[in-house]
Amino acid sequence: MLSNQRSLDTEWKDSFTVLLLSSLIDMKVTMLGTGTTYPDPDRVQSGILIELDDESVLFDIGAGVYHRLTQAGLNLKSISSIFITHFHIDHCSDFLMLCQNLWLDNHDKPMNIYGPQAIEQWYRGLFDIAFPYAQDRLLINVRALKETEAVHVGEAIISNTPTIHGTMETRALRIDWRGRVLVYSSDTAPCRDVIDLAKSADVLIHECNWLDGPNPEGVHTTPSQLAEIVEEIAPKKLVLTHVSPDVVSNKKKVLDIIRRRTDAEVVMGEDLMSFEI
Ligand SMILES: [Zn+2]
Ligand SMILES: [Zn+2]
Repeated sequence: MLSNQRSLDTEWKDSFTVLLLSSLIDMKVTMLGTGTTYPDPDRVQSGILIELDDESVLFDIGAGVYHRLTQAGLNLKSISSIFITHFHIDHCSDFLMLCQNLWLDNHDKPMNIYGPQAIEQWYRGLFDIAFPYAQDRLLINVRALKETEAVHVGEAIISNTPTIHGTMETRALRIDWRGRVLVYSSDTAPCRDVIDLAKSADVLIHECNWLDGPNPEGVHTTPSQLAEIVEEIAPKKLVLTHVSPDVVSNKKKVLDIIRRRTDAEVVMGEDLMSFEI
C-alpha cells in the first residue's frame, strides 16, 4: 500500500515536472519576410516561421522566404504545416521552391498545407503544370480552412478569420500554444473580425502597407488606423510587417503615430528578426 502510494506520488511529481518544464519553453518566432510587392533590397515578401518545441509552422511563403529559411538555418524537413493566408503572389510564390527542395532531399514525412477555399484548386494547378513528376512522391495534405475553424498542430491550436482585402479571400491567423498567443493579420484593411481574433494576444503581427493619406478603400492598413486597432487590442507587443518602402523610409514618424496610442512595445519588423513568446 505504502509503496503504491510512493509510486503514485513519484508519478504525480514526474508529470508535474514535465508540465512545469514545458511551460518554460518559449514559442520562437522569426520574421522571414517583412516586405511587399514593391522592390526592397532589405526585405523579401511575406513569411513567418514559428518554432514550437517539436515542430515548425510557416505562416505564408512569399518570394524570398525560401532563401530566408536557409539563412535562418532551419532544417526544412522540420516544417510540419504551412498556412497560406491568401493567393496574392507575395504570400505563396516560394511554395514550389520548398517542395522542390523536399523532393530532392527525399522527404518522406507528411506536410499539411492549409489555406482559403481555393487552395485545392491552386495546389492542383501548380503541381499539374509545373511539377507533375513530384506530386506522387511528396506526402502533402491539402486542406481548405473553414471560416473561424480551429486546427490542431501538435499542442498548438490555430484559428482563423476572414479579413478585408479587396476581392481576395484572405485569412488572419491566431496560434494558441501553452498559454501564449500570437496573431498575424495577413493583408487587411481595419477589420472587426481581426480585432476580435486578436483579443488577449501577447504579440500582434499586423500589416502596415501604406502611409496615411488617400489610399484605395478596403485593402490595407495605415499607421493611424493601426494605432486605433492596437489601442483596442492592447497586446504586449506589436510587430509591423508588410511595410512598403514609403513606410520604411518614414519609420520614426510611423512608430511615433502608433506609440502615442499604446503602451505596447512597438517595433517595425525586419527580415530575420526573432523573438520569443
Ligand atoms: Zn494581398
Ligand atoms: Zn501582400
